[in-house]
Amino acid sequence: MCGIVGYVGRSEAAPILLDGLRRLEYRGYDSAGVAIVDGDKVETRKCAGRIAALGKLMAEKPPSGTFGISHTRWATHGKPTDQNAHPHFDASGKLALVHNGVIENYQALKDQLMRDGDRKFSSETDTEVLAHLIGKLYDDSIAEATAQDSNGNATNAPPLNQRGLLVDAVRAALRQVIGTYGIALVHSDVPDFLVGARRGSPLVLGVGKEENFLASDVSAIVAYTRDAVYLNDFDVVAVERDKFEISSVAGEAGSYQLSKVEFSDADIKKGDYPHYMLKEIFEQPGSVRDAMRGRLSSEECTAKLGGLNMSPAQLRDVGRVVLTGCGTALHAAMVGEYLIEALAQIPTEVEFASEFRHRNTPMTRDTLVFAISQSGETADTLGALRESRRKGYRTLGICNNVASTIARESDGGVYMHAGPEIGVAATKSFTAQVTIMTAIGLLLGRMRHLSTSEGTRIIDALNALPTQIEEVLKLSDEIKAIAKKYANAPGMLFFGRQFHFPIALEAALKMKEITYLFAEGHPSAELKHGIIALVRPELPSVFIAPDDAVFSKNLNNIEQVRARKGPVIAVTSGAGADRLAKIADDIITIPTAPDYVSPILTVIPLQLLAYHLAVELGRDVDKPRNLAKSVTVE
Ligand code: GLU
Repeated sequence: MCGIVGYVGRSEAAPILLDGLRRLEYRGYDSAGVAIVDGDKVETRKCAGRIAALGKLMAEKPPSGTFGISHTRWATHGKPTDQNAHPHFDASGKLALVHNGVIENYQALKDQLMRDGDRKFSSETDTEVLAHLIGKLYDDSIAEATAQDSNGNATNAPPLNQRGLLVDAVRAALRQVIGTYGIALVHSDVPDFLVGARRGSPLVLGVGKEENFLASDVSAIVAYTRDAVYLNDFDVVAVERDKFEISSVAGEAGSYQLSKVEFSDADIKKGDYPHYMLKEIFEQPGSVRDAMRGRLSSEECTAKLGGLNMSPAQLRDVGRVVLTGCGTALHAAMVGEYLIEALAQIPTEVEFASEFRHRNTPMTRDTLVFAISQSGETADTLGALRESRRKGYRTLGICNNVASTIARESDGGVYMHAGPEIGVAATKSFTAQVTIMTAIGLLLGRMRHLSTSEGTRIIDALNALPTQIEEVLKLSDEIKAIAKKYANAPGMLFFGRQFHFPIALEAALKMKEITYLFAEGHPSAELKHGIIALVRPELPSVFIAPDDAVFSKNLNNIEQVRARKGPVIAVTSGAGADRLAKIADDIITIPTAPDYVSPILTVIPLQLLAYHLAVELGRDVDKPRNLAKSVTVE
């Protein structure tokens, strides 16, 4: 949440900062702003609304200068207004700061600042307090350094080290902060200089030639450089054009590792697709293939997941699995529970990361924990990972973003290799996560009772998926017609059994996220325990009913809805299509697959259904209301 970009170099900062924000807009779009230092003053432009509005403002009166910062906001404290838009300033108006995160003790800090002097705050944000605090500490240290004795002689002779004093002020302020932050700041008295720092919110340094960058996410800067340093919690970075220095909030010298960004600028372009979401849905044959590439061994009939950093003996000793995540990742975890229990017979628990981190879940000594997050920065999932590691459990990450915080802080893990996901509603990351869950189930199963022939069957089914997904994608126009037909529906119910119950939840989530319609997912049989009271002619029920062992049970539930005049859309396969022909109003027929890989196929038509319905309703598909990708606040 919130996107930050900083630039110091020889080019005009404005287009670079604005372009970076456009690429980070998926992180928040309540307001946007820039601050660029022009000579001895800070030029700022900011406004509520989208980056496009900021772009207009900047075009009317272009700010000039070669270093500055910018921000796209997902509001936590204070409404999405012009006043609350970042950057925020200190009392002198010379220091501008952008922030991602929450300053939990902002009120106490504000009270203290007010006691120390009469200060005017111009926003309701927690962030502005931090700008004032750093500014005050910096001004105090400058005053001290330039103090004169009673004879008018300078008491501190050496020339002022403004850069050093500014970094010291940042450190001193951050030591007083309770909460999370990724920040970037400039000061008009300190030319060609940025300071960045992070705790809990991501911040990456992009290293260029005679120019350097700060960003919440490398996608903002990959057009300019692919050399990046992923900052750690409590890092403070002083950035100049041709050098940078990393230290800690406590003042110790820091070390760093230079990484190469895996993807290029072309990978984050929309191409000919009208929306990122549609592009990402259509990328799934490739992303599912990439998620299993090099990870399936036909000789040994198992999965090879070296990143887990576990020996065969350690894998065999796993007695319990906990899968934790939020939102879509939680639904992938739920499919994972079915998979691991079915393939490896290991008791598996799914925990909302936000709950798990705050309660004392009973765990056995042999529990293996997985933290699942596309961004690898999800605050609640990171909290769950840290709590689990603190208690001494082996904790593995399943992330898409290489070198993300979850990836770095876990004992090992599996990268999704799904490529950048920009659409706020997750699609290809979900199918990549489920693919990895299948590989984990296969690996753990093959350490136990699963035979070589069963292993081979699963590998064959996985290998067949990319082609089968291509078949499903061909149904897009058919699904669009169904979406049009139900454009006036007040909402949708989703039902599925076994492996497809989590798909019902995920389909309902997609529907809510991008159409804003009321939607719920349930196990099909739950219908008669209450939900059936909702069934009526205007409200469609979507049944995920492939031709599997529970098809006839689903059929019963479909009949129950029909008997009450509820319209039925069915996602089915094989012989299911014929059996549903006279019962369901609309049928989406996908290729037949064994039940342990079938969720990857059934979810795709439902991603498309939500997408086409959202387009039909005129929704902003890639940037839905109130949402942001990569939820880095609690
Ligand atoms: N707390 C800050 C605000 O509300 C930053 C929010 C964020 O990180 O999304 O402006």
